[in-house]
Amino acid sequence: MYTCLMSKNGGQWHFKKILLKEGWAENVTVEVGAGGLISGLHRDSKGGGEKVSGIAIPAMLNAHSHAFQRAFAGLTEKRGKEGDDFWAWRQVMYRALKAIGPDELEAIAAQVYVEMLKSGYAGVAEFHYLHHQADGTPYDNKAEMSEAIIRAAGAAGIDLTLVPVLYQRSDFGADTVEPGQRPFFNTLEDFRELLAGLKGKCRSGLALHSLRAVPEEVLAEAAALTEGPVHIHIAEQTREVEACLEAHGQRPVEWLLENADVDARWNLVHATHVMVEEVTGLAKSGATVVLCPTTEANLGDGIFPFEDYSGAGGRFAIGSDSQVSIDPREELRLLEYGQRLTSGKRAIAGVHPGAALWTRAAAGGAAAMGYEKSQIQVGAPAHIAVLDDRSAALIGGNCDQILDALVFAGQPTPVKDVMVSGTWRVRDFHHPKETAVRARFNKAVKELA
Ligand SMILES: [Zn+2]
Repeated sequence: MYTCLMSKNGGQWHFKKILLKEGWAENVTVEVGAGGLISGLHRDSKGGGEKVSGIAIPAMLNAHSHAFQRAFAGLTEKRGKEGDDFWAWRQVMYRALKAIGPDELEAIAAQVYVEMLKSGYAGVAEFHYLHHQADGTPYDNKAEMSEAIIRAAGAAGIDLTLVPVLYQRSDFGADTVEPGQRPFFNTLEDFRELLAGLKGKCRSGLALHSLRAVPEEVLAEAAALTEGPVHIHIAEQTREVEACLEAHGQRPVEWLLENADVDARWNLVHATHVMVEEVTGLAKSGATVVLCPTTEANLGDGIFPFEDYSGAGGRFAIGSDSQVSIDPREELRLLEYGQRLTSGKRAIAGVHPGAALWTRAAAGGAAAMGYEKSQIQVGAPAHIAVLDDRSAALIGGNCDQILDALVFAGQPTPVKDVMVSGTWRVRDFHHPKETAVRARFNKAVKELA
Protein backbone atom coordinates (compact mmCIF):
# COMPACT_ATOMS: atom_id res chain seq x y z
CA MET A 1 0.00 0.00 0.00
CA TYR A 2 1.41 3.39 -1.00
CA THR A 3 0.95 6.16 1.52
CA CYS A 4 1.12 9.87 0.78
CA LEU A 5 4.16 12.02 1.23
CA MET A 6 4.08 13.14 4.82
CA SER A 7 6.28 12.48 7.80
CA LYS A 8 5.22 9.43 9.70
CA ASN A 9 6.84 8.59 12.95
CA GLY A 10 6.63 5.38 14.81
CA GLY A 11 5.91 5.45 18.51
CA GLN A 12 3.86 4.15 21.42
CA TRP A 13 0.87 5.73 23.10
CA HIS A 14 -1.07 4.55 26.11
CA PHE A 15 -4.84 5.03 26.24
CA LYS A 16 -6.97 4.46 29.32
CA LYS A 17 -10.10 3.88 27.26
CA ILE A 18 -10.11 2.98 23.58
CA LEU A 19 -12.48 1.60 20.98
CA LEU A 20 -10.60 -1.15 19.14
CA LYS A 21 -12.10 -2.83 16.08
CA GLU A 22 -13.03 -5.76 18.28
CA GLY A 23 -14.67 -3.56 20.92
CA TRP A 24 -14.02 -1.28 23.89
CA ALA A 25 -10.89 -1.88 25.94
CA GLU A 26 -9.03 -0.24 28.82
CA ASN A 27 -5.34 0.39 29.37
CA VAL A 28 -4.06 -0.33 25.88
CA THR A 29 -0.73 0.68 24.44
CA VAL A 30 -0.89 1.31 20.71
CA GLU A 31 2.38 0.74 18.90
CA VAL A 32 2.86 2.39 15.51
CA GLY A 33 5.51 1.37 13.02
CA ALA A 34 7.57 3.79 10.93
CA GLY A 35 5.16 3.42 8.00
CA GLY A 36 2.27 4.85 10.02
CA LEU A 37 0.47 1.53 10.42
CA ILE A 38 -0.50 0.07 13.80
CA SER A 39 2.09 -2.59 14.54
CA GLY A 40 0.97 -3.75 17.98
CA LEU A 41 -1.84 -3.45 20.53
CA HIS A 42 -0.82 -4.32 24.07
CA ARG A 43 -3.77 -4.80 26.39
CA ASP A 44 -3.69 -4.15 30.12
CA SER A 45 -0.25 -2.66 29.59
CA LYS A 46 1.12 -0.95 32.62
CA GLY A 47 1.65 2.39 30.97
CA GLY A 48 4.10 1.72 28.12
CA GLY A 49 4.35 4.74 25.80
CA GLU A 50 3.21 8.33 26.15
CA LYS A 51 0.02 8.63 28.22
CA VAL A 52 -2.85 10.28 26.35
CA SER A 53 -5.82 11.52 28.36
CA GLY A 54 -9.35 11.14 26.97
CA ILE A 55 -11.25 8.49 25.05
CA ALA A 56 -9.68 7.10 21.88
CA ILE A 57 -11.86 6.13 18.93
CA PRO A 58 -11.16 5.45 15.26
CA ALA A 59 -10.82 8.76 13.44
CA MET A 60 -13.35 9.29 10.66
CA LEU A 61 -12.53 9.20 6.94
CA ASN A 62 -14.07 11.67 4.54
CA ALA A 63 -14.99 9.60 1.49
CA HIS A 64 -16.15 12.44 -0.77
CA SER A 65 -14.77 15.96 -0.98
CA HIS A 66 -14.57 18.75 -3.56
CA ALA A 67 -12.06 20.94 -1.71
CA PHE A 68 -12.48 24.04 -3.92
CA GLN A 69 -16.17 24.28 -3.02
CA ARG A 70 -15.14 25.40 0.47
CA ALA A 71 -14.48 28.85 -1.08
CA PHE A 72 -18.20 29.50 -1.54
CA ALA A 73 -19.91 27.10 0.88
CA GLY A 74 -22.78 28.99 2.48
CA LEU A 75 -22.58 31.83 -0.05
CA THR A 76 -24.96 30.34 -2.61
CA GLU A 77 -28.18 30.42 -0.62
CA LYS A 78 -29.95 33.10 -2.65
CA ARG A 79 -33.16 32.22 -4.48
CA GLY A 80 -33.33 33.56 -8.04
CA LYS A 81 -36.40 34.53 -10.11
CA GLU A 82 -36.88 30.95 -11.27
CA GLY A 83 -36.46 29.50 -7.79
CA ASP A 84 -33.36 27.55 -6.83
CA ASP A 85 -32.33 23.91 -7.23
CA PHE A 86 -29.30 21.69 -7.78
CA TRP A 87 -28.93 22.79 -11.42
CA ALA A 88 -29.09 26.52 -10.59
CA TRP A 89 -26.53 25.96 -7.81
CA ARG A 90 -24.28 24.17 -10.32
CA GLN A 91 -24.21 27.25 -12.59
CA VAL A 92 -23.15 29.42 -9.62
CA MET A 93 -20.43 26.87 -8.81
CA TYR A 94 -19.16 26.90 -12.43
CA ARG A 95 -18.88 30.71 -12.34
CA ALA A 96 -17.06 30.66 -9.00
CA LEU A 97 -14.40 28.18 -10.02
CA LYS A 98 -13.25 30.26 -13.01
CA ALA A 99 -10.75 32.23 -10.97
CA ILE A 100 -9.31 29.23 -9.13
CA GLY A 101 -5.77 28.40 -10.23
CA PRO A 102 -3.21 26.18 -8.49
CA ASP A 103 -2.27 28.73 -5.80
CA GLU A 104 -5.88 29.46 -4.89
CA LEU A 105 -6.75 25.76 -4.92
CA GLU A 106 -3.85 24.95 -2.61
CA ALA A 107 -4.85 27.74 -0.18
CA ILE A 108 -8.53 26.69 -0.14
CA ALA A 109 -7.78 22.98 0.15
CA ALA A 110 -5.29 23.47 3.01
CA GLN A 111 -7.96 25.37 4.96
CA VAL A 112 -10.64 22.77 4.41
CA TYR A 113 -8.23 19.94 5.29
CA VAL A 114 -7.25 21.64 8.56
CA GLU A 115 -10.96 22.02 9.35
CA MET A 116 -11.53 18.34 8.57
CA LEU A 117 -8.72 17.29 10.91
CA LYS A 118 -10.07 19.46 13.73
CA SER A 119 -13.49 17.83 13.40
CA GLY A 120 -12.14 14.27 13.59
CA TYR A 121 -11.45 13.28 9.99
CA ALA A 122 -7.96 11.76 9.53
CA GLY A 123 -8.21 11.13 5.80
CA VAL A 124 -9.97 12.36 2.71
CA ALA A 125 -10.78 10.94 -0.70
CA GLU A 126 -10.61 14.02 -2.93
CA PHE A 127 -12.90 13.73 -5.95
CA HIS A 128 -10.82 16.07 -8.06
CA TYR A 129 -12.17 17.35 -11.38
CA LEU A 130 -10.79 20.87 -11.67
CA HIS A 131 -7.91 19.93 -13.98
CA HIS A 132 -7.44 22.86 -16.41
CA GLN A 133 -7.66 26.62 -16.77
CA ALA A 134 -11.11 28.26 -17.03
CA ASP A 135 -11.22 28.12 -20.85
CA GLY A 136 -10.14 24.49 -20.83
CA THR A 137 -6.48 25.11 -21.72
CA PRO A 138 -4.38 22.50 -19.91
CA TYR A 139 -1.54 23.65 -17.67
CA ASP A 140 1.95 22.82 -19.01
CA ASN A 141 2.08 20.22 -16.29
CA LYS A 142 -1.18 18.30 -16.66
CA ALA A 143 -1.05 17.30 -13.00
CA GLU A 144 -0.63 20.94 -11.83
CA MET A 145 -3.99 21.12 -10.03
CA SER A 146 -3.68 17.59 -8.64
CA GLU A 147 -0.29 18.53 -7.24
CA ALA A 148 -1.84 21.60 -5.58
CA ILE A 149 -4.21 19.23 -3.75
CA ILE A 150 -1.30 16.97 -2.77
CA ARG A 151 0.66 19.95 -1.38
CA ALA A 152 -2.38 21.16 0.58
CA ALA A 153 -2.91 17.73 2.12
CA GLY A 154 0.79 17.55 2.98
CA ALA A 155 0.70 20.98 4.64
CA ALA A 156 -2.38 20.11 6.71
CA GLY A 157 -1.15 16.59 7.44
CA ILE A 158 -4.33 14.83 6.37
CA ASP A 159 -4.07 11.43 4.70
CA LEU A 160 -5.10 11.82 1.07
CA THR A 161 -6.41 9.43 -1.53
CA LEU A 162 -6.64 11.44 -4.72
CA VAL A 163 -9.34 10.33 -7.11
CA PRO A 164 -8.84 12.31 -10.33
CA VAL A 165 -12.09 12.53 -12.26
CA LEU A 166 -12.83 11.64 -15.87
CA TYR A 167 -15.41 14.02 -17.34
CA GLN A 168 -16.15 13.94 -21.06
CA ARG A 169 -19.66 15.18 -21.87
CA SER A 170 -22.45 17.38 -20.58
CA ASP A 171 -25.20 14.75 -20.56
CA PHE A 172 -26.31 11.36 -21.89
CA GLY A 173 -25.87 11.34 -25.66
CA ALA A 174 -23.89 14.62 -25.83
CA ASP A 175 -20.63 14.72 -27.83
CA THR A 176 -18.72 17.00 -25.50
CA VAL A 177 -18.94 19.35 -22.52
CA GLU A 178 -20.61 22.75 -22.04
CA PRO A 179 -18.27 25.80 -21.88
CA GLY A 180 -18.45 25.91 -18.05
CA GLN A 181 -17.27 22.29 -17.91
CA ARG A 182 -14.11 22.76 -19.99
CA PRO A 183 -11.80 22.80 -16.93
CA PHE A 184 -12.95 19.21 -16.25
CA PHE A 185 -12.61 17.64 -19.72
CA ASN A 186 -9.98 15.03 -20.57
CA THR A 187 -9.65 12.54 -23.38
CA LEU A 188 -8.99 9.02 -22.16
CA GLU A 189 -5.40 9.36 -23.37
CA ASP A 190 -4.86 12.60 -21.41
CA PHE A 191 -6.51 11.03 -18.37
CA ARG A 192 -4.17 8.05 -18.59
CA GLU A 193 -1.24 10.46 -18.75
CA LEU A 194 -2.52 12.37 -15.73
CA LEU A 195 -2.77 9.16 -13.69
CA ALA A 196 0.71 8.09 -14.81
CA GLY A 197 2.09 11.51 -13.78
CA LEU A 198 0.75 11.03 -10.25
CA LYS A 199 2.46 7.67 -9.70
CA GLY A 200 4.72 7.80 -6.66
CA LYS A 201 3.36 11.19 -5.56
CA CYS A 202 0.23 10.10 -3.77
CA ARG A 203 -2.09 7.19 -3.10
CA SER A 204 -4.70 7.40 -5.79
CA GLY A 205 -7.70 5.76 -7.37
CA LEU A 206 -9.91 7.38 -9.96
CA ALA A 207 -13.39 8.68 -10.45
CA LEU A 208 -15.87 8.55 -13.27
CA HIS A 209 -17.77 11.77 -12.74
CA SER A 210 -21.20 10.22 -13.42
CA LEU A 211 -23.01 8.17 -16.03
CA ARG A 212 -24.06 11.54 -17.46
CA ALA A 213 -20.46 12.67 -17.97
CA VAL A 214 -18.69 9.43 -19.00
CA PRO A 215 -19.81 7.69 -22.20
CA GLU A 216 -20.82 4.06 -21.67
CA GLU A 217 -18.26 2.75 -24.19
CA VAL A 218 -15.41 4.36 -22.18
CA LEU A 219 -16.54 3.37 -18.69
CA ALA A 220 -15.01 -0.10 -18.36
CA GLU A 221 -11.69 0.86 -19.94
CA ALA A 222 -11.41 3.91 -17.68
CA ALA A 223 -12.28 1.97 -14.51
CA ALA A 224 -9.52 -0.51 -15.37
CA LEU A 225 -6.86 2.24 -15.29
CA THR A 226 -6.45 1.88 -11.52
CA GLU A 227 -6.05 -0.88 -9.00
CA GLY A 228 -7.23 1.56 -6.35
CA PRO A 229 -10.75 2.64 -5.47
CA VAL A 230 -13.18 3.70 -8.21
CA HIS A 231 -15.64 6.47 -7.32
CA ILE A 232 -18.72 7.68 -9.21
CA HIS A 233 -21.56 10.15 -8.55
CA ILE A 234 -24.82 8.36 -9.20
CA ALA A 235 -28.60 8.89 -9.00
CA GLU A 236 -28.27 12.13 -7.04
CA GLN A 237 -31.11 13.92 -8.80
CA THR A 238 -34.39 12.67 -10.28
CA ARG A 239 -33.60 14.51 -13.55
CA GLU A 240 -30.49 12.31 -13.93
CA VAL A 241 -32.58 9.18 -13.32
CA GLU A 242 -35.08 10.26 -15.99
CA ALA A 243 -32.31 11.03 -18.50
CA CYS A 244 -30.74 7.62 -17.86
CA LEU A 245 -34.10 5.89 -18.33
CA GLU A 246 -34.49 7.72 -21.62
CA ALA A 247 -30.97 6.88 -22.82
CA HIS A 248 -30.73 3.27 -21.62
CA GLY A 249 -34.20 2.20 -20.54
CA GLN A 250 -32.73 1.57 -17.09
CA ARG A 251 -32.17 3.57 -13.92
CA PRO A 252 -28.54 4.65 -13.17
CA VAL A 253 -27.74 2.14 -10.41
CA GLU A 254 -29.63 -0.61 -12.22
CA TRP A 255 -27.66 0.10 -15.41
CA LEU A 256 -24.31 0.29 -13.63
CA LEU A 257 -24.81 -2.98 -11.74
CA GLU A 258 -25.61 -4.71 -15.02
CA ASN A 259 -22.92 -3.12 -17.20
CA ALA A 260 -19.87 -2.67 -14.96
CA ASP A 261 -18.00 -5.05 -12.68
CA VAL A 262 -19.13 -3.29 -9.53
CA ASP A 263 -17.34 -4.81 -6.55
CA ALA A 264 -15.69 -3.80 -3.27
CA ARG A 265 -13.40 -1.34 -5.10
CA TRP A 266 -16.41 0.75 -6.16
CA ASN A 267 -17.80 3.72 -4.27
CA LEU A 268 -21.16 5.01 -5.37
CA VAL A 269 -21.65 8.58 -4.21
CA HIS A 270 -25.22 9.55 -3.21
CA ALA A 271 -27.24 6.73 -4.89
CA THR A 272 -30.18 8.71 -3.55
CA HIS A 273 -32.87 7.59 -5.97
CA VAL A 274 -32.93 3.80 -5.92
CA MET A 275 -35.64 1.15 -6.06
CA VAL A 276 -35.79 -1.93 -3.83
CA GLU A 277 -33.98 -4.20 -6.35
CA GLU A 278 -31.21 -1.64 -6.77
CA VAL A 279 -30.76 -1.41 -3.00
CA THR A 280 -30.42 -5.19 -2.74
CA GLY A 281 -28.11 -5.37 -5.75
CA LEU A 282 -25.91 -2.61 -4.35
CA ALA A 283 -25.61 -4.32 -0.97
CA LYS A 284 -24.77 -7.65 -2.63
CA SER A 285 -22.08 -6.10 -4.87
CA GLY A 286 -19.84 -5.28 -1.88
CA ALA A 287 -19.54 -1.67 -3.06
CA THR A 288 -19.64 1.27 -0.66
CA VAL A 289 -22.42 3.86 -0.88
CA VAL A 290 -20.97 7.25 0.01
CA LEU A 291 -23.64 9.37 1.66
CA CYS A 292 -23.26 13.13 2.04
CA PRO A 293 -26.37 14.00 4.08
CA THR A 294 -25.69 17.71 4.68
CA THR A 295 -24.94 18.38 0.99
CA GLU A 296 -27.84 16.17 -0.13
CA ALA A 297 -30.13 18.18 2.16
CA ASN A 298 -28.63 21.49 1.06
CA LEU A 299 -29.10 20.71 -2.63
CA GLY A 300 -32.54 19.18 -2.21
CA ASP A 301 -31.41 15.80 -3.56
CA GLY A 302 -33.61 13.48 -1.54
CA ILE A 303 -33.21 10.79 1.12
CA PHE A 304 -31.37 7.50 0.57
CA PRO A 305 -33.29 4.40 1.79
CA PHE A 306 -30.69 3.74 4.45
CA GLU A 307 -32.78 1.43 6.61
CA ASP A 308 -33.43 -0.98 3.72
CA TYR A 309 -29.81 -0.82 2.56
CA SER A 310 -28.53 -1.47 6.08
CA GLY A 311 -30.96 -4.34 6.47
CA ALA A 312 -29.53 -5.88 3.30
CA GLY A 313 -26.01 -5.65 4.79
CA GLY A 314 -24.82 -2.74 2.63
CA ARG A 315 -21.61 -0.84 3.40
CA PHE A 316 -21.58 2.96 3.61
CA ALA A 317 -19.23 5.88 4.14
CA ILE A 318 -19.78 9.62 4.56
CA GLY A 319 -18.46 12.66 2.72
CA SER A 320 -18.44 16.42 3.20
CA ASP A 321 -18.91 16.89 -0.58
CA SER A 322 -19.81 20.60 -1.08
CA GLN A 323 -18.32 21.51 2.34
CA VAL A 324 -21.50 23.07 3.77
CA SER A 325 -20.58 21.05 6.85
CA ILE A 326 -17.18 19.75 7.80
CA ASP A 327 -18.14 17.64 10.75
CA PRO A 328 -18.69 13.87 10.64
CA ARG A 329 -21.10 14.11 13.56
CA GLU A 330 -23.44 16.33 11.60
CA GLU A 331 -23.41 13.99 8.58
CA LEU A 332 -24.22 10.95 10.74
CA ARG A 333 -26.85 12.75 12.79
CA LEU A 334 -28.67 13.98 9.69
CA LEU A 335 -28.42 10.55 8.10
CA GLU A 336 -30.23 9.00 11.08
CA TYR A 337 -32.68 11.91 11.45
CA GLY A 338 -33.76 11.69 7.79
CA GLN A 339 -34.76 8.08 8.44
CA ARG A 340 -36.49 8.91 11.73
CA LEU A 341 -38.48 11.74 10.15
CA THR A 342 -39.74 9.56 7.32
CA SER A 343 -40.34 6.36 9.35
CA GLY A 344 -41.58 7.67 12.69
CA LYS A 345 -39.10 5.35 14.45
CA ARG A 346 -35.90 5.88 16.46
CA ALA A 347 -32.54 4.09 16.64
CA ILE A 348 -32.57 3.10 12.95
CA ALA A 349 -28.84 2.44 12.55
CA GLY A 350 -28.46 0.07 15.49
CA VAL A 351 -29.06 -0.63 19.16
CA HIS A 352 -26.72 2.26 19.85
CA PRO A 353 -27.22 4.24 16.63
CA GLY A 354 -24.39 6.72 17.21
CA ALA A 355 -21.88 3.92 17.81
CA ALA A 356 -23.16 1.90 14.85
CA LEU A 357 -23.02 4.91 12.53
CA TRP A 358 -19.53 5.99 13.59
CA THR A 359 -17.88 2.57 13.35
CA ARG A 360 -19.62 1.55 10.12
CA ALA A 361 -18.81 4.87 8.44
CA ALA A 362 -15.17 4.56 9.54
CA ALA A 363 -15.01 1.07 8.00
CA GLY A 364 -16.70 2.18 4.77
CA GLY A 365 -14.42 5.22 4.60
CA ALA A 366 -11.39 2.94 4.76
CA ALA A 367 -12.63 1.09 1.68
CA ALA A 368 -13.20 4.39 -0.13
CA MET A 369 -9.62 5.42 0.72
CA GLY A 370 -8.21 2.12 -0.55
CA TYR A 371 -6.95 0.85 2.81
CA GLU A 372 -6.63 -2.84 3.44
CA LYS A 373 -7.73 -2.57 7.08
CA SER A 374 -10.00 -0.22 8.96
CA GLN A 375 -10.43 1.19 12.46
CA ILE A 376 -8.04 0.51 15.33
CA GLN A 377 -6.42 -2.86 14.69
CA VAL A 378 -2.97 -4.16 13.81
CA GLY A 379 -2.17 -3.42 10.16
CA ALA A 380 -4.56 -0.46 9.85
CA PRO A 381 -3.30 3.15 9.50
CA ALA A 382 -2.86 4.70 12.94
CA HIS A 383 -5.71 7.21 12.59
CA ILE A 384 -7.04 7.95 16.06
CA ALA A 385 -9.38 10.66 17.37
CA VAL A 386 -9.33 11.41 21.08
CA LEU A 387 -12.44 12.77 22.78
CA ASP A 388 -12.25 15.11 25.74
CA ASP A 389 -13.72 13.09 28.61
CA ARG A 390 -14.42 16.39 30.43
CA SER A 391 -16.90 17.41 27.72
CA ALA A 392 -20.36 17.99 29.27
CA ALA A 393 -22.03 15.83 26.62
CA LEU A 394 -19.92 12.78 27.42
CA ILE A 395 -20.20 12.88 31.21
CA GLY A 396 -22.23 9.96 32.54
CA GLY A 397 -21.98 7.87 29.38
CA ASN A 398 -20.09 4.64 29.02
CA CYS A 399 -18.75 2.73 25.97
CA ASP A 400 -21.25 2.89 23.08
CA GLN A 401 -23.23 5.62 24.84
CA ILE A 402 -20.17 7.82 24.41
CA LEU A 403 -20.47 7.59 20.62
CA ASP A 404 -24.24 8.12 20.82
CA ALA A 405 -23.59 11.32 22.76
CA LEU A 406 -20.82 12.30 20.35
CA VAL A 407 -23.13 12.00 17.33
CA PHE A 408 -26.41 13.24 18.78
CA ALA A 409 -25.28 15.87 21.27
CA GLY A 410 -22.01 17.49 22.20
CA GLN A 411 -21.64 21.04 20.90
CA PRO A 412 -18.94 22.15 20.38
CA THR A 413 -17.07 19.05 19.27
CA PRO A 414 -15.40 16.98 22.00
CA VAL A 415 -12.72 15.87 19.47
CA LYS A 416 -9.57 17.23 21.08
CA ASP A 417 -6.68 15.33 19.45
CA VAL A 418 -6.31 13.68 16.06
CA MET A 419 -3.50 11.35 15.06
CA VAL A 420 -2.88 10.62 11.39
CA SER A 421 -0.63 7.68 10.56
CA GLY A 422 1.11 7.91 13.93
CA THR A 423 1.62 11.70 13.91
CA TRP A 424 -0.47 14.10 16.01
CA ARG A 425 -2.01 16.69 13.69
CA VAL A 426 -4.44 18.19 16.19
CA ARG A 427 -3.63 18.55 19.88
CA ASP A 428 -5.83 20.08 22.50
CA PHE A 429 -8.30 21.35 19.85
CA HIS A 430 -5.59 23.13 17.84
CA HIS A 431 -3.78 22.51 14.59
CA PRO A 432 -0.27 24.01 14.63
CA LYS A 433 -0.69 25.65 11.22
CA GLU A 434 -4.30 26.83 11.59
CA THR A 435 -3.46 30.56 11.76
CA ALA A 436 -1.12 30.61 8.76
CA VAL A 437 -3.38 28.37 6.68
CA ARG A 438 -6.39 30.54 7.50
CA ALA A 439 -4.57 33.77 6.54
CA ARG A 440 -3.68 32.34 3.15
CA PHE A 441 -7.26 31.11 2.64
CA ASN A 442 -8.71 34.53 3.53
CA LYS A 443 -6.46 36.23 1.01
CA ALA A 444 -7.24 33.73 -1.75
CA VAL A 445 -11.01 33.88 -1.25
CA LYS A 446 -11.09 37.71 -1.05
CA GLU A 447 -9.25 37.82 -4.37
CA LEU A 448 -11.82 35.48 -5.92
CA ALA A 449 -14.74 37.71 -4.94
ZN1 LIG B 1 -19.74 15.33 -5.30
